[in-house]
Amino acid sequence: MPTPHLRFAASDVTKIPPLDLTQQYKTIQGEVEAAVLKLLASGSYIGGEAVTGFEQQFADYIGTTEAVSCNSGTDALYLALRALEVGPGDEVITTPFTFFATAETISAVGAKPVFVDIEAGSFNLDLDQVEAAITSRTKAIMPVHLFGNPVDMVRLGAIAQRHNLFVIEDAAQAAGAEWQGQKVGSWGHVGCFSFFPTKNLGACGDGGCVTTNDAAIAEKITMLRQHGMRQRYYHEAFGVTSRLDGLQAAILSIKLKHLDQWNEQRRAIASRYGQLLAEVPGIVPPQSTADGTAVWHQYTLRVQPGSSNLCDQGEHYRDGLKEKLADQDVISMIYYPVPLHLQVVYQDLGLGEGSFPVAEQAAQEVLSLPMFPELLIKQQDKVVAAIRQATSALVA
Ligand SMILES: *Cc1c(COP(=O)(O)O)cnc(C)c1O
Repeated sequence: MPTPHLRFAASDVTKIPPLDLTQQYKTIQGEVEAAVLKLLASGSYIGGEAVTGFEQQFADYIGTTEAVSCNSGTDALYLALRALEVGPGDEVITTPFTFFATAETISAVGAKPVFVDIEAGSFNLDLDQVEAAITSRTKAIMPVHLFGNPVDMVRLGAIAQRHNLFVIEDAAQAAGAEWQGQKVGSWGHVGCFSFFPTKNLGACGDGGCVTTNDAAIAEKITMLRQHGMRQRYYHEAFGVTSRLDGLQAAILSIKLKHLDQWNEQRRAIASRYGQLLAEVPGIVPPQSTADGTAVWHQYTLRVQPGSSNLCDQGEHYRDGLKEKLADQDVISMIYYPVPLHLQVVYQDLGLGEGSFPVAEQAAQEVLSLPMFPELLIKQQDKVVAAIRQATSALVA
């Protein structure tokens, strides 16, 4: 693996975005343009060698025997649930602190999402609370490796095995992350990935993939992603049309070769943020665990009322900090402001405020800083300086 390097540059530093896809494109432009032109000339736009080639490369990378590509991470989750025959009457245990698609797909197949609160430190599913949520209707657990930080898959796998449940990993934010040296997406019965452009491995459009070591599951997903047919024009199920374009596959094959280096750069940036923010009052930087290799899809801290300068914002010290950073041209993001059990579409679950206090507190406190492999040292310094200035106590 190439050594990570922190980037220095003398260019001027003005507005710092949460991420900048144009910087990454510049580093691979020649390779990508050549591959795109070749694909265009091939006439093979749906399916074909670019797609099967990428699927093989991605399976090899994740460490599974199979990878079935599709149109999005959302479709990957949906197809995985369908292939495992999760449907009406079934329950799937998952986290309320995630992107909506996690629970949305459970609802889309007619099953019921059963939320379990998160751990304060990792923002991931609290494994101490999972077993209490298992009922006779539970069919699967859907852990999310949120922000690229892996869930303890050894412990989660043991719980699932004890209760004979499927494990569907939502690895949309965690391409390349590892638990005990083994890639996420290879631990569960299936792993689901998104290639949305902003993800660690992002296409130039939509894309997704399911990884598995079970050939029968892979075949079933292949059948469902093309109108429920194994043999052309013979339909054995109501499927969908969800394919990865040849163009996106060709681009992803190139980007996959760079993924480890990009993730390494994210780790170097995260580690530097951690050092620079360690002593800042009111700021709690994210922690990673010894067994997990995070890929820092987001660098998400907690903003707590530890600084009088932020306390004058009342309860909204996090939002206050976000505004103060924006005033200094540092753009931060809130992932996610509303936990899923409090979304209007899940009102019928009857889970009001107070149901999952750790997730609810996280939604009030989280702030994600600019994070992308090409972030410059100078830009990072500016982010940190802006945070220090905004949080410095007026009384000091
Ligand atoms: C992005 C994302 C998805 C959905 O992926 P799409 O490709 O946007 O459909 C699902 N789950 C999580 C946790 C995500 O971050």
